[in-house]
Amino acid sequence: MKKDNCIFCKIANGDIPSKTIYEDEMFKVILDLGPATKGHALILPKEHADNLYELPEETAGAAMKLAKKLSVQMKDKLGADGFNLVQNNGEVAGQTVMHFHLHLIPRYQNDGQRIGWTPGEPTQEELEDIRQKIVG
Ligand code: 5GP
Ligand code: ZN
Repeated sequence: MKKDNCIFCKIANGDIPSKTIYEDEMFKVILDLGPATKGHALILPKEHADNLYELPEETAGAAMKLAKKLSVQMKDKLGADGFNLVQNNGEVAGQTVMHFHLHLIPRYQNDGQRIGWTPGEPTQEELEDIRQKIVG
């Protein structure tokens, strides 16, 4: 289903033009308008889901399979030295468009980008506490 007023629904279904690098029945893959690096692209499912929690499992699996295929193609064709997959859920995690998307970010030596976090230093007890919360 498309969602009214969703920009990525409109792009994925062709109502708004985009620089498309791949398309099939389930996905459209477009170049990001505010790219982190040369070739930064977004895998957009044609069916609307706000985020990963709502995404059907089948679509999630297919998106990762497609990311694998496109990462190889983009690395070869663009001469990338590395590759990041990024997927944000929720404002606090940096999601700005509330239609699931998977970022494909080719990386180059000295591209000046930093995608990462500051590592914490948990004790074994803290790790065990978290482990139990997740599995319990
Ligand atoms: P998020 O922060 O939600 O994970 O990523 C949203 C991404 O969508 C950003 O990288 C932003 O540059 C990109 N973006 C937002 N609006 C448009 C648009 O209309 N067209 C394209 N191609 N990219 C967009
Ligand atoms: Zn949508």
